[in-house]
Amino acid sequence: MKLYSTNSPTNYVSLKEAVLKGLPDDNGLFMPEVIPALPKEFIKKLSDYPFPVIAYEVSRHLLAEAIPEKDLYMLIRNAVNFSAPIVALDESKYILELFHGPSLAFKDFGARFMAQLMSYFNKNEDKELTILVATSGDTGGAVAAGFYKTPGINVIILYPSGKVSALQEKQLTTLGENITALEVDGTFDDCQAMVKSAFLDADLNAHLRLSSANSINIARLIPQSFYYFEAYKQLPKDERDAIFCVPSGNFGNLTAGLFAQKMGLPIQHFIAATNANDVVPEYLASGKYNPKPSVQTISNAMDVGNPSNFARMLDLCSTWNTMQNTISGYTCNDDSTRKGMKEVKEKYDYIIDPHGAVGYNAIKDYQEKHPNTKAVVLETAHYSKFLDVVEPVLEDKVPIPERLAVLANKEKVAIQMENTFESFKEWLIQSR
Ligand SMILES: *Cc1c(COP(=O)(O)O)cnc(C)c1O
Repeated sequence: MKLYSTNSPTNYVSLKEAVLKGLPDDNGLFMPEVIPALPKEFIKKLSDYPFPVIAYEVSRHLLAEAIPEKDLYMLIRNAVNFSAPIVALDESKYILELFHGPSLAFKDFGARFMAQLMSYFNKNEDKELTILVATSGDTGGAVAAGFYKTPGINVIILYPSGKVSALQEKQLTTLGENITALEVDGTFDDCQAMVKSAFLDADLNAHLRLSSANSINIARLIPQSFYYFEAYKQLPKDERDAIFCVPSGNFGNLTAGLFAQKMGLPIQHFIAATNANDVVPEYLASGKYNPKPSVQTISNAMDVGNPSNFARMLDLCSTWNTMQNTISGYTCNDDSTRKGMKEVKEKYDYIIDPHGAVGYNAIKDYQEKHPNTKAVVLETAHYSKFLDVVEPVLEDKVPIPERLAVLANKEKVAIQMENTFESFKEWLIQSR
């Protein structure tokens, strides 16, 4: 497998280099040279295969001998060890539950696979690897859980102070060991900019072996394509023309859906559902890409003003026109999000989290305009991660899974940080 940068399509690197570097030197994003179509026979027989087998087959084709099959098989077994079930709300609306991993959000898929891949590629190195990751909420917890106690790898998580939920914060500040949390006095975009600057800083790179765990890392995207296959397999046989609706922030999840489609999964259409941070829906409507500062919403993991995977979406779709034909945009404000959560509870007795609710609103709107469409909404996190939003809206206490409840009593440990690259750099150098 070879990968190129979206900024210089003739410069190739190996999977190992792409995964360990995270970001190319030219500030583009790594993309696989070839996204191969899977055998039609395999797609036809998806229902015969368990999820890990599907994941293994998809990655075997995409990674094309970058990792020996025996090692890849073990790696997938360790990474894909929880389920991704679909639940029917009614005869035309399905929920794909992506929250059955350790941190209760879809990012567990990417983080676990990436941790496996990085420790595989890092095993013969003697210098420690430092992983930098900016989080708007869920990435941090997933990455922390995925890399916890991985030998030879240190993880530094930057998160915006006061802008993640209480339990999300606990997920990234209570593990300790090789995981360090920096509480940044700023926004997610500030955190992301600080991480980007670190990768481009010659000084730092001379001192440290740096790598990224954000959704910009190709190792995060690849496993996110697996569950589109897994969802498709579970749809009733005569409803496999369903469209997929993806509540989006940095657009890694949707980009992984485009990968799955390119690999031959017959996905008819996508909906990019966003909160008030509507840069992509606006682009789909107008053809103009206008990044903006992010606005804070109750679906905070999608508060992204300049989605980093947009370059990949353009790369995959080539033109605005193609993207318009492939993806519909949808955006809603916090009031509608609350209404969506309430409605799903009252109508279907299902508790949906604020991110999933944006997706639910999107398919409702789409199905009004396109009757007889079946739709799958990706439920990106478990509702209990957002109790401070969910309980007031539903005007009721909601049950919390045990593995989250235990966090409430653990002590938060975080290092306070200004939102400038200079202070981050200084800390990085003195802390090693
Ligand atoms: C990260 C996240 C999103 C956004 O996903 P992207 O791949 O960045 O578009 C949506 N919902 C939840 C709960 C998340 O954690």
